[in-house]
Amino acid sequence: MSRFTDSDFLRYTLDNPTGISEPSQRQLADGSLLTVSASGIMTVEPANPTRALDLVLSCGVHGNETAPMELVRDMVTDLLDGTLIPGVRLLVLIGNPVAANISQRFEQVNMNRLFSGNHMNHDCWEARRAAELEAAVSTFFSQGGEGRERCHYDLHTAIRGSEYEKFAVHPYTAGAPYHAEQLGFLAACGINAVLFSSKPSTTFSYASSNLHGAHAFTLELGKVYPFGQNDLGRFALINQALRQLIVTGTFQQATWQQQLICFDVCHELLKESDDFRLTIADDVNNFATFHQGDQVSTSSAGDYHAQHNGEAIVFPNANVPIGGRAALMLSVIDPAQIPIQHN
Ligand SMILES: [Zn+2]
Repeated sequence: MSRFTDSDFLRYTLDNPTGISEPSQRQLADGSLLTVSASGIMTVEPANPTRALDLVLSCGVHGNETAPMELVRDMVTDLLDGTLIPGVRLLVLIGNPVAANISQRFEQVNMNRLFSGNHMNHDCWEARRAAELEAAVSTFFSQGGEGRERCHYDLHTAIRGSEYEKFAVHPYTAGAPYHAEQLGFLAACGINAVLFSSKPSTTFSYASSNLHGAHAFTLELGKVYPFGQNDLGRFALINQALRQLIVTGTFQQATWQQQLICFDVCHELLKESDDFRLTIADDVNNFATFHQGDQVSTSSAGDYHAQHNGEAIVFPNANVPIGGRAALMLSVIDPAQIPIQHN
C-alpha cells in the first residue's frame, strides 16, 4: 500500500482495493485541495467556487462496468495537471475495486442493492464497502452544509443490450415534482430515455436522493467492455457536460421533451415461486416492447401477460431470490403529463 502521488486515480484504487496506507492531500495549481481519504474516495474543494453545488460522481459500483471508471480517471488526471479547474465541490467514488480487479459485477452481493442501510443485513465485502461509500457521501454533503445544491450521478454500463443506448433511472420522489433543469441536463448528456421509479429502492442514487435531498440518478451509458477496450468517444456528450459542470457549475441544457422517452412503471414482476421463469428470449433488450396479451413470465403462482400494446420490459432477471424483482414492466408517458418544477 502507498499514498496517492501520481496521476492515475483508477490505477491507484485498483492497486489498493481494500484500503490505503494513509490519506493524502494535494494542492492543485489554482489552490484547490484534492484529498484521497480512502480507497477510491476522493474529494476536491475548489479554491474559486463558481456555484454552491456539491457534486458526487460515482462509478464502478458494479466492478466490470469499466467505461465510467475510465472517464472519471481521465477527469481526475486533468484536475491534477490543471487542465480542469474545479468550480464546485466534488466527491469522486470508484465503487467496487475488488470486483473490478476480478472483472466481475460483484464479488458476493450486488452492491447496488445494499444502500439506504441495507448493507446492515449482509456480511460481505460489498456490504462493508456500501457502508463506507454511504458514509463518504453523508460526510461530503454535511461538510458542504445545508442550503447548497446537491447532485449525485451514479455512472453504469450494462451487459444487456438496450433499445435506448443511454438511459437514466430517476429515483422515486414520493410525489415531489421532477426538475426541468435536471431533465434538460440528462438530454444534453445524450441520455435517450428516463425511467421514473415508482417506489423506494436500495440503490446508491435513491439513497442520495432520499437521505440528502440530492438530484440523483442512475445513468446507464451503454455496453460493458473490459478495461482498455472502451470507445470513450461514445461518451463524448456526457463527458463534456460533466466537465463543464465541474468547472462552471452550469448544467448544459437540451430539449428533454423531445429527446427523452419517458417511462413509468406499470407493473413490477416479482419472482413469487421457485418455478418462476421468464418466457422471453434470454438476450431480450432493455425496453423491448410487447403486444397486449404477450406472455412474459410463468410460474405456479400465475403467468404474466403484457397488459397493453407497447408495454416495455427493463432489467429482466429471473435469477433473483424468491420475492425479488424479476423485471419492471413500463409504459411510455407523455412528457406533458409529467409533474415538473422549473427551478
Ligand atoms: Zn451497473
